[in-house]
Amino acid sequence: MDLLLIFLLATGCTSTNASDKKVINEIHPDDITEIGFFQAGVDSIGKWIIPPDIEICKDANVTKEQVKSAATWWQTRNYAFDKIYDNVEKGPCIGQSRFTYYAIVIRLPGQAYNFENYGSTIIYHENKKILGVVIEISEARERVLEHELGHALGWLHYSKRSHLMHPFWSKGGWNDDGLTAVEVDLSTQAPQID
Ligand SMILES: [Zn+2]
Repeated sequence: MDLLLIFLLATGCTSTNASDKKVINEIHPDDITEIGFFQAGVDSIGKWIIPPDIEICKDANVTKEQVKSAATWWQTRNYAFDKIYDNVEKGPCIGQSRFTYYAIVIRLPGQAYNFENYGSTIIYHENKKILGVVIEISEARERVLEHELGHALGWLHYSKRSHLMHPFWSKGGWNDDGLTAVEVDLSTQAPQID
């Protein structure tokens, strides 16, 4: 019993030591950055190491059909998702955790939400690995889900007029320049990093 306790304490305490390669997979929330989006060109924060699930919270104001449609938009550009769940009542959906590992969680806006936006995304990552994403949608008008899923796949903003990842909805559009993934292995597919 004593040995077990010491082991647990030891692994917990060393997780913040970034120089220790042995604990790099033990992710500590304080090492995870919340990204603010404002990039001059299309650029990627990183990629998923496995295709993420999409979890739609029970009270989210988007339908499973809307999410499926947005996911398909990205799948035709060589990105992969695992399963799509709806009516989810755990993790970030109920404030139980900040994010769910290997999942894109879609929920109603939280307290920090800026209601000038129609949607907002937080990427939780470690270095170039995306660990989890939380998308908040206040108004799922055209392109909003696709745009936020773009963030969830690692893409930052792109100021090109009519581009999906334009930061302003009114100046955005369906232009997808630079967004199609080059690799074709869907089992490990994610945005390329230049
Ligand atoms: Zn955005």
